[in-house]
Amino acid sequence: MKKQYAFHVDTERCIGCFTCAMACRNYYHQVEGVVWRQVHPLSEEIYPHRERAFLSLSCNHCEHPACLNVCPVEAYTKREDGVVVHHQEKCIGCGNCIRSCPYGAPKYNPVEKRAEKCSLCHERLDAGLKPACVQACPTDALQLIDLAEFTETNEVQYPAGYPRMEELNPSTRFVLPQTPKMVRR
Ligand code: SF4
Ligand code: SF4
Repeated sequence: MKKQYAFHVDTERCIGCFTCAMACRNYYHQVEGVVWRQVHPLSEEIYPHRERAFLSLSCNHCEHPACLNVCPVEAYTKREDGVVVHHQEKCIGCGNCIRSCPYGAPKYNPVEKRAEKCSLCHERLDAGLKPACVQACPTDALQLIDLAEFTETNEVQYPAGYPRMEELNPSTRFVLPQTPKMVRR
């Protein structure tokens, strides 16, 4: 398998503190209402223990990105390491990528009048640094992995409620929450 950087989301470790989302927002000076990473509480029907029920989500850096395929001005590229980069300087704000991504990753920036999304902090990767969200997570719930070298077996690609899009092959991997040994009521 070719190199493919990916986010590893461990819901057993996530405490829902939103530090990852805030780190992303601060690092890229995101405008009001635009967030590239969001922490989603899980529905109690999916997982009844609210203290451990969060998914931290952003772009999945898919193997076959829908965003890249529909962009009329080639504002998206996929790097050799699998990172799907959005080049904002090329974007004309047509919204095709926003409409085509089943994971809601590209957002419309009403100030710049163009799309934007997580590009996995590729400049930081090139400098040997972790992505800002991964760096900030206080519990190591969010990590960077290379799927080409990843051998763990208890991860899933499609947690409950997550769109199953095999033709895109999203790269993010999830550790699902287990039932806690002690439950406080
Ligand atoms: S999650 Fe959406 S924006 Fe990210 S690479 Fe896949 S199709 Fe593109
Ligand atoms: S920073 Fe880590 S623990 Fe906090 S919400 Fe994000 S993934 Fe969860």
